[in-house]
Amino acid sequence: MRPALLLCLVPVLAACGGGASSPLAPSAAVPPPTLPPPPPRALILSIDGLRPDAIEKVEVANIRQLAARGSYSWQAQTITPSNTLPAHTSMLTGVAPSVHKITWDDYLPARGQLTTPTLFAAAKVAGRRSAMVVGKEKFLTLRDSGSVDAFVLTMRGDDDVANQAILQVDAGFDLVFVHFPDVDLIGHERKWLSAQYLQKLQTVDAALGRILSVVPANMTVILTADHGGSDTGHGSSAAAHMTIPWVIAGPRVKVNNALAVRALRKFHLDVEEVTSTEAALDVMQRRHFDLVISDMGRGDNKRAGYELLAEMRRKGSMVPFLIFSSSDRPEFRQEAMDRGAQLSTNSIVELLDYIIRDLGEPK
Ligand SMILES: [Zn+2]
Repeated sequence: MRPALLLCLVPVLAACGGGASSPLAPSAAVPPPTLPPPPPRALILSIDGLRPDAIEKVEVANIRQLAARGSYSWQAQTITPSNTLPAHTSMLTGVAPSVHKITWDDYLPARGQLTTPTLFAAAKVAGRRSAMVVGKEKFLTLRDSGSVDAFVLTMRGDDDVANQAILQVDAGFDLVFVHFPDVDLIGHERKWLSAQYLQKLQTVDAALGRILSVVPANMTVILTADHGGSDTGHGSSAAAHMTIPWVIAGPRVKVNNALAVRALRKFHLDVEEVTSTEAALDVMQRRHFDLVISDMGRGDNKRAGYELLAEMRRKGSMVPFLIFSSSDRPEFRQEAMDRGAQLSTNSIVELLDYIIRDLGEPK
């Protein structure tokens, strides 16, 4: 018999453009005029020097919510040298420094211009308009490539970056790139992952929240960084310098839960899906499962996963219980173990590894 797996996961629905009529709506005698859907737009948020493991150390509700409604990796890799200007040039051209040739990390126009086409040039070719809002002078290198329609440089820090970004989003640009400088600057001054560094991360999370609150439904958001850091620096190929966050959320982006379910479907498993604690308990009364996977928060209930686990254990069910959540803070892992779960993770890879170990190889 195939092993049976119960999934209690709420698919987080991405916000869709409100008011658009359904293509399956019953047709009237005279079809109502339908407006074309608004064209897709994109917003790229880059937090200079953000190490993804810092996200686990403090409450950053806006970054976390963005990840929860989209797909993400906390193990993405930047380029070498892991420095701001070469990394952002790679981010915005899609090629390595050996190709775009911007290997220095200051505004040095005498050393040469960027000749590789940027994302902004691609937007221009497509008839779209783009804007950059940045907090360091070295980004003039990208402005000088001549492809971005609006360029705003502010030296007043992350809060002003957010103010300027909101203006550009409101102005209707199709592609907006936003650079937050402060997390990197405090890392150089007080060390990466210091209390001051983590505090700055919370400040930028709040600034980011203000931008996200004005982002229209047709705008896809990417959140990433140019590099990490350790002690008071970066630039090497060490994991702490190379590892960056990468989050994408938007109207056409699958959420990680959906990707996990798709991956699980590839296994030769009997998978049953429910979306609430009540439905999970109900279906468990009717049949046996070899493994249960639950998310942690469902709707307003941030501890729904624990409640399902407690109820199962109270009823004497010792079926292995895995929590698949958007957070991977060590205290969450510990609490999950203390409550009798076998695993709590935000990694699809770790989740699938456990399932393969426990239920056998995929067929
Ligand atoms: Zn730096």
